[in-house]
This record gives sequence, C-alpha cells and structure tokens, in this order.
Amino acid sequence: MSKSEYEVIIGLEVHAELSTKTKIFCSCPTEFGGQPNTHVCPICMAMPGTLPVLNEKVVEYAVKAGLATNCEISRDSKNDRKNYYYPDLPKSYQISQFDKPLCEHGYVEIDTEAGKKKIRLTRIHIEEDAGKLNHDDFGGGSLVDLNRAGVPLIEIVSEPDLRSPEEVESYMKKIKSILEYIEVSDCKMQEGSLRADVNVSVHKPGEPFGTRTEMKNMNSFRSITRAIEYEIERQIDVLEDGGKIEQETLRWDDVSGKTFSMRDKEDAQDYRYFPEPDLVAIKLSEEYIETIKNSLPELPESRKQRYLEEYVLSEKDANIITASKYLSDLFESAIKICNNPKSVNNWIISDISRILNETEMEPIAIPFDGKQLGKLVILIDKGTISSSIGKKVLEELFENPRDPEEIIKEKGWIQISDEGAIKEVVIKILEANPQSIADFKAGKDRALGFLVGQAMKETKGKANPKMLNEMFLEELKK
Ligand code: ADP
Ligand code: ZN
Ligand code: MG
Repeated sequence: MSKSEYEVIIGLEVHAELSTKTKIFCSCPTEFGGQPNTHVCPICMAMPGTLPVLNEKVVEYAVKAGLATNCEISRDSKNDRKNYYYPDLPKSYQISQFDKPLCEHGYVEIDTEAGKKKIRLTRIHIEEDAGKLNHDDFGGGSLVDLNRAGVPLIEIVSEPDLRSPEEVESYMKKIKSILEYIEVSDCKMQEGSLRADVNVSVHKPGEPFGTRTEMKNMNSFRSITRAIEYEIERQIDVLEDGGKIEQETLRWDDVSGKTFSMRDKEDAQDYRYFPEPDLVAIKLSEEYIETIKNSLPELPESRKQRYLEEYVLSEKDANIITASKYLSDLFESAIKICNNPKSVNNWIISDISRILNETEMEPIAIPFDGKQLGKLVILIDKGTISSSIGKKVLEELFENPRDPEEIIKEKGWIQISDEGAIKEVVIKILEANPQSIADFKAGKDRALGFLVGQAMKETKGKANPKMLNEMFLEELKK
C-alpha cells in the first residue's frame, strides 16, 4: 500500500505562559531569565508548610482565552494534583486541572487550501510550569533552576482535527495571534512562552484512528513541520512492515532530524490525579464572565475585515499584517502619522517583513515605533528623500531607532531636487554614455532607465528620480 493511502491525524496540546506579573501561587516575578534561583520563594521552592494562593489574574487570562476561542466557560471549576516525580518539580506534583477545566468545547478557524476549517478545542485549563534543568557541560551533572517553577500556563488541547503539517502551522499561528491580541501571553516561541506537544497517528480512511505518538515541547514552526513529516514516514514504514505503533512519548532531535523514544506513554491513572486540597474551588459568576467578555479587544479576524474595507488592502496583505498584533499596531500608529495606508502596507509587507525574516526577529521585537515609520513615509511622500534612501533609513531604524528626519540630516541623505544640480549630473552622465543616447534614439527605451540608474549611482541615490527622468527625456529629445 502506498503512503498516499494513509490519512494523517494530528492533535495539539499547546502550552502558553501567561504574562501575569507574578506567578500562579506566590508573588514571585514571572520575568524570563535572571540569575538561576533568584525569582523564587519558599512557596515555589516547595518548602514544607507553605500554602498556595491562586493568582486571580490567571483565571481572568484563561477565561479571556476561552472566550476568544469560542469555549464554554465553567462556572464551577477546580484545581487538581498531577503527581509525578521530576528533579525540576520540587513538590513532586504539578497543580493542574483534571476533570473540571475552566474552558471547554471551543474552536478556532484556520485557513487551508480548501478554504476555512474549524479546529475544535477540547479544553483550556490552567496549571503551573515546572523549573528547568541546566545540563552542566563541565561538571557532567545537572543543575536545577526554579525561576520558571510556578509560572502560570494555560494548556489548550485540540481535538484530533488536524490533517497535515501545514494545517498544524496554520493552527499554531492562529492560536498565537489570538493570544497576542488579547494580551494574555507574549507568545515568544524562542523563550518557550509558546510550545506544543504534537500528537501524530496515521490510519487508512474508513478504519479507526491509529495509535498516536507524542512529541513534547516543540517551539519552532520549522521543527514542528520536520518532526511531523518524519514521524508520518516512520509510522507508515512500521505499519507497512507489519509492525505495530507503540503509544509513547518521543523527543525530536533537530540535529539528526529524527525522533527518539523518551518513555512509554503514561495514562491519566499513572498520575493519580486528585483534587488539590490546599485550594478552594473556582466559582465564577455570570457577571464576572460578562465583564471579561465585554473587555475583549478586536480579534484578528474582525480587524482583517476592517482593513479590507477601510484601507482596501489585498486579502493576502491584510492576512499577513493582522496575523501579528504587533505588526497590526505598527500599521495603525504609522498611518495615524502619515495618512498613507498603501505605502505603510508596502513597507510592512516588503522591506520590514524581509528584514524580520533575515534576522529571525519576531514582530514584537521591532525596535522602532509607528510614529517613526509614519515619518519615514512622509519624508518620501514630500520628496525629501527617494524611496531607495528610504530603505537605508529603515535599516537605520532597525539598528538604532530615532527620528528619520534626524537620520537623514546626520547622514546627509536629503534628496537633491535642485534643478541646476540635477542638470549637472544629467549632462555628465550623457557625456559618459554616448552609446545609450544612440540606443535611445534608435527606439530602445530601456536606455533611459540605464541612464537614470547611472545618475542615481553618481549621486549615491540622492537625486530626485522623477526630476532625473524628466530632464533626461528633455535632453535626449533635443
Ligand atoms: P495526554 O495528556 O495524555 O496527552 P490529552 O487527552 O490531554 O492526553 O491529549 C491528547 C491529545 O492527543 C489531544 O490533542 C488529541 O487531539 C490528540 N489525539 C488523540 N487521539 C489521537 C490520535 N489517534 N491521533 C493523533 N492525535 C490524537
Ligand atoms: Zn515564589
Ligand atoms: Mg499530552
């Protein structure tokens, strides 16, 4: 049987670190980094006799996430202990939620080649993050850092509705975008603020779903895609050889491009879940949920619709810009300054996106603001600088953001629009290129472009291209 006869089934458990100021059960800061074991207290270090106190913001953020993903919000929910031993989990249990999660039965819509598709969410629950093990290359041992222990997480569990790596990427991006818009997580994937456990199985259509394997803690789109592709092939090979897929937890290794078995899959019963006795039940009033519902900001989909109507962007551009709250906010604050949506759109879609790609920078890390981008557009619109100088100004904005006007003054990049000066350049270039004059007269219009290009080179991009064009034409027609 060939590979194409198998159907791929994927379900995701996405963990997002919440951007509350303090941890879920104590008042330590959640801030990323810091010297190991400096963001800790007796509670998150699990000293005997300490008691957790639930951070109300965590509930609020999780409810926000649930409402933004069409979930039902439980009026009556609770925390449970998930028992397991791990060196970075000093309590030997994680406070999570088992049978009464805060949010259930939601969905998000993703774009696929075949159109829009709903991906169902089983649940969203709150839990605490564990610490981190730093493997010591010198001593050969491992060191425990508890700064992350007790950082609040939401876990968003999808139904097995995804069918390909492309759909998975689209889904992850949608979740990321929604969480950014409602400002409950910074979703920095490199810092592990957003990560996914990826469950993959294959089966033949018409037959029951196959046994799944789970790849833990994936935090880059590229690795997720590679890991899924590898795992699909591996599972099909096993089945084709008459073997059986074991339900297990795998580790994806980016360097070798393979998955490795970490452990047999544990079942819920292995965790011996039971209600957390140190915390009270979470009871939410209608009024509380209503207030949060009313506080939800505009979400990516409706922002996109607005852009299509208000600014007449193309569907593709509107998708790219609104997918990221940060790009979208940049867009809006820039057009407030320059009132030129078309040009701001072009800067974001072409040059800014290119630089983000080349430098692997996330939009949240863009160092300049909309005011500066807006001013750059104004300088071009007024003819103070050419758009090629504009590109250099943009690079400066990424390097060392400041007022674009200051940049061009400091660098001497102001456009030459003085007729006398332009004429001087035109004459000089014409004298140096008699062949181009002949070509133009013989009907080769391309020669004009070449001459303008030479003049731009001569003036280091500072000459006003429109004036150059006109003056060359005038001279050539003499
Ligand atoms: P656990 O915590 O044990 O991993 P969960 O029920 O929390 O279990 O999550 C299971 C995940 O696996 C869900 O995202 C679900 O959609 C997915 N899943 C379940 N069955 C399959 C399957 N046959 N193939 C792929 N994914 C599956
Ligand atoms: Zn603490
Ligand atoms: Mg799991």
